[in-house]
Amino acid sequence: MNEDLDELQNQIQICTKCSLNLSRKRAVPGEGNEKAKIMLVGQCPGDQENEIGRPFVGPAGVLLGRLISGIRLKRRDLWLTNVVRCIPPGRLPHSSEIKTCAPFLLEEIKIIKPKIVCPLGNIALSLLLRKPAQIHQFRGKPIPTHSYFLFPALHPAAALRQSNLMPQVEEDFRNLKAFIDSNPVLEPPPGQESLF
Ligand code: SF4
Repeated sequence: MNEDLDELQNQIQICTKCSLNLSRKRAVPGEGNEKAKIMLVGQCPGDQENEIGRPFVGPAGVLLGRLISGIRLKRRDLWLTNVVRCIPPGRLPHSSEIKTCAPFLLEEIKIIKPKIVCPLGNIALSLLLRKPAQIHQFRGKPIPTHSYFLFPALHPAAALRQSNLMPQVEEDFRNLKAFIDSNPVLEPPPGQESLF
């Protein structure tokens, strides 16, 4: 593994920067192809991720696997990660926890240099847009930044909570595939500040 990525993974696994370290069983670093062109970013680990220490291994991860294979990609083609690396106890992460944990994600993006970063849901989208944002307003459309395309999509867990959202979740992944196949060329927007 890339030494910088290895070091980052180690830092995450022993991190005590916020109080979530007290209730977690395992911190959950990202995983996948360290040369991935596509990075999927969820919000935080769930129960099974907390037990095993790997991202997207619970029910939402199973659905994600189906969505990925549905667009003829494999999990090992991608980098899978989260904004917050420790499970919040029965709630969404607080903004202070997101802010404290976010540098790990930004460093991960800097090391892996994906061409497309897919924020899955409001928390990842708001962090990467650096403003409060609703996924329903942005889903399925690429947003060029200085370093990569953002491609917001609904989190698969949304369809597990509300089955009527499944067609939209599937549509987002089909649109992602169409965007990948279009072989887009990044033209950074003028004047936009880089994340790094
Ligand atoms: S959530 Fe992030 S910042 Fe908080 S303890 Fe876990 S790894 Fe560290």
